[in-house]
Order: sequence, then structure tokens, then C-alpha cells
Amino acid sequence: MTAQTLFIDGRWEAAADGATREIRCPADGSPVGDVSEASAADTERAIAAARRAFDDRRWASVPAARRGKLLGRLADGIRDRHEEFARAEALDTGKRIVEARIDMDDIVNCFDYFAELASKDAGRLVDAGSEAVVSRIQYEPVGVCGLITPWNYPLLQAAWKIGPALAAGCSFVLKPAELTPHTAILTLRLLDELGLPAGVGNLVTGAGAQAGAPLSSHPDVDMVSFTGGLVTGRVIAASAAPTVKKVALELGGKNPNVVFADADFDAAVDNALNAAFVHSGQVCSAGARLVVQDSIAEEFVDALVERAQQIRIGGPFDDAAETGPLISAAHRDKVHAYVQAGVAEGARVRCGGEFATGTSGSSDLDAGFYYRMTVLDQVRRGMSVVVDEAFGPVVTVETFTDEDDAVATANDTIYGLAGAVWTQDAGKAQRVANRLRHGTVWINDFHPYLPQAEWGGFGQSGVGRELGPTGLDEYREAKHVYQNIAPEVTGWFADRTRQ
Ligand code: NAD
Repeated sequence: MTAQTLFIDGRWEAAADGATREIRCPADGSPVGDVSEASAADTERAIAAARRAFDDRRWASVPAARRGKLLGRLADGIRDRHEEFARAEALDTGKRIVEARIDMDDIVNCFDYFAELASKDAGRLVDAGSEAVVSRIQYEPVGVCGLITPWNYPLLQAAWKIGPALAAGCSFVLKPAELTPHTAILTLRLLDELGLPAGVGNLVTGAGAQAGAPLSSHPDVDMVSFTGGLVTGRVIAASAAPTVKKVALELGGKNPNVVFADADFDAAVDNALNAAFVHSGQVCSAGARLVVQDSIAEEFVDALVERAQQIRIGGPFDDAAETGPLISAAHRDKVHAYVQAGVAEGARVRCGGEFATGTSGSSDLDAGFYYRMTVLDQVRRGMSVVVDEAFGPVVTVETFTDEDDAVATANDTIYGLAGAVWTQDAGKAQRVANRLRHGTVWINDFHPYLPQAEWGGFGQSGVGRELGPTGLDEYREAKHVYQNIAPEVTGWFADRTRQ
């Protein structure tokens, strides 16, 4: 039977033209499942369904507390089926099952957070300076939202959008990355079982240029929220411009990990590995630029390289593996070309810089898209490997002399998603944190984030914020309602009818 993975107006459907896509696990090429490949026409049907649902107020008229309750039950549903969801994520992405389980915990926390937030802060009274006026701000849902998500944290990125969209009373069309659709399918099934009204949540699986494009250009979409690469983000912002819809962009990063000589050496080396190599560097906030003080640079990089070479690579269910494959052959080729471009510009490969092959633990590396953990030194500001996002297991090493030089180096990027500073001097830590032009700054840590805390980028890392109270505000319009309770003639224009 043809795959039916489009969820439109409360019904599971195949693509109108019958097109399908086979999903394979990037760890070993094994088939994971067939999904419908939506065309632009399928997405337009989904947009029409979301529009009708919104205009009929099927969800916006549900009290906020009850909207929150449904999100709480969604969190419970994922908690109950945690392993099923984690396995689906691990198979689509190739990431280790232990990491997929952590992702599911984070997703549950995200939905719980927005469940709680939904009924808080409905608006506020405004002091108009007159007893004859009642003035208030009330928050209303933005409307129909197009949600477009990437493949590295497929359901987590979708949860950061679905949670606030449903909390606010919006309807949505979700288009997950074409390579990793399965957890989105499971989530929409769950929402259907939980009784989300038809048309409020819709899903189209398929490629960006076809299934995704109408979500930014279509006049019936009020907002497009996109997480993905910078180049796609620019395309989406441009295609949204003619209809002046709200645009939220969570794009890439080229994130500095700044290590001062007075840092806890072992903790900083260990966390520099996490920063660069977790999920084989396929993390928007990866610490892909090590910026280390010159006095400890040699010793620090030697220690980093020694440990990076020992990181065990393998498939999702290989207990010996510490990190997994890249998402596709094409992506691995891109990462390798990026490393080679750096070498051509003068970078030195301290370790890695090649495909990982052979066997490791119980994994046949030749069957997947593995790449060795890579450290590049002898790089200079301005080189392509220092400027461009690799989105793979590659870290470059830059050095600095003093605090000003550290800040200038760390801020020398068009991005501004995240960065870290390592020092045992609390004053210096705060000074540097204040001067970093990045949306998240970690002090003596790397990677943690909280659903209660805003996430997003300065510079070309994006527009807007996800998570935290601002993450909900992105999906709400503030309306000012001003009532004059004692209307009287103003006399602004003379009434000549009475003369
Ligand atoms: P991508 O830009 O290639 O694709 C992202 C999504 O956009 C996919 O669903 C894709 O199908 C869709 N898409 C592509 N072209 C489109 C178009 N013309 N119209 C509509 N949709 C389109 O990104 P990717 O390779 O999937 O993800 C990796 C990127 O995501 C990295 O740059 C990473 O830094 C970024 N990212 C950012 C964050 C963050 O929070 N800032 C989080 C995760 C990933």
C-alpha cells in the first residue's frame, strides 16, 4: 500500500501524485520506511485546511488552560512511548539511541513547559491616564504557521515550534526535514489520538523546494518559522517578503569556545571535545572554533587531539560507540570538501580529515557515512574553515593573547548563536560574557539549554527567539483594546451643522 504520511484536515493521506520516498538509516543504509513525498499542491491543501481551522476558531476559541492541558497530555504520551519515539529518531538520524533518549526527555520537558505557560500572561491592563478609559493588551494567536525543521534534532526542533504554536492557539503545517520524518509522523498521530481538532495540526513530508516552499510564499500563511541553514533561511525570508508574513529564523552558528590559561584544564579539554564532537558536530551550537590563550595552546591542543583520536564511532545500537554517522553521503562529501578547502588555504590536519572506514565495535563503518573527529590548527581569521559552518566533526584552533583579543576573535563571525568562556576568574568570565555577541553564552560549560530560557541568534544566526516566554510571544500578536467608557463630543472639528 502507498505510504500515507501526510496529515491534512484530520486525515492521513498519500501524496496526490502517489510519490513516495524511502528513508534509510545513515548508520548502515538499512531501510527504515517509506513516506509520502508531498508536492507543493499537497502543501497548499494543508495550508487551506489550517486556514479553515483557524478562521473557524476551532482551536483559538478553546480556553488557553485546555490548550495547555492537551500539550501536557502530548508530553505524557511521548513519556509513555519514549522508547518507540527514541528508536524512530535514532534510525532516521543514525544518532546513538542514548542520545535519542535524551532528546525525547528534552522534548517532553519542552511540551510540559508550554503546557504550563499556555494559560499564563493572557495580557495586561494599561494605565491610560484617564478614569474614562479602559485600556488593555490582549494576546491573540498569529494564525496559520508554517513550521520547517532540520534533520539534526528532528523532533526537538519541531517541539520548540509545535509547543508554543498550540499554546498560543495557532494552527500549523509542519514540514520536517525530508530525511528524518518519522518522529513528526508519530507526534501528529498522537495529537490526532488526543483529539486535536481537524485542520489545527497538519503534516507534509517531502523536500524543501517542493513541499516546503509554499509555507513561506503563500498568502494564507501568517507566519513561517524555520530552523535550518543560513542559505535556506535567506531564501525563506526573501520568499516571505511579498506577503509580509512574520518570519522566525533559527539558523547556523560558528560558535567560539574561548579557553583562558587559568581555566580548569581537564574540564576545559573534556568539554571542548563535547562542544565540537557531540552528534559528530551536527549541532547548530557546536563549539567548532576553539579559541585558546596562546600560553597554553600547545599543551591544550595536544591533549585535545590525543583524546579526539580515541573517540569511538559507530551505529545507534552499538554500546561501544560514542558518536555516530553524518546524515548522508552528500553531507559527508560536503564536510570533507570543507576540510580540504581549509588545508588548501594552509590549515594543518592534527587528526581526522578523512572518512572513517573498516569496523569499530559492532559497527560496519563502510556501510554508513562516518567521518573521523578532525582538529585543524594553523588557521587564521578569515579562512573559509574559520568562517563557514562545517556541520560536521571538525574543530579549528585559533589563539589569542589577552581578554580584548579573545573577545575580538570570538566575535569575528557573521553568526552569533552561542559561545563559551572558560576561566576560573569570575570577574573575567562576566566581562567576556557581556561582550560576546552571541544568543547564548556558557561560562565553564558547553551545550546545556533550558526550555525556560530563550534560544536564538545574534547576527545572521537568525531572527527571533524560541523557548522561554519570548518563544511563546513569537506565536502571538499583541492587540491593544482601548475603550472610552464616557464618550463625549471632542470638538476637534467644528460642528457647522448646528450653526
Ligand atoms: P536546510 O536549510 O538544508 O533544511 C532545513 C529545512 O528546510 C528542511 O526541512 C528542508 O527540507 C527545508 N527547506 C529547504 N529548502 C527550502 C525551501 N526553499 N523552502 C522551504 N523549506 C526548505 O538545513 P539542514 O541541512 O536540514 O539543517 C542543518 C542546518 O540547520 C545547520 O545550518 C544548522 O546550524 C541549522 N540548525 C539551527 C538550529 C538553531 O537552533 N539555530 C538548530 C538546528 C539546526
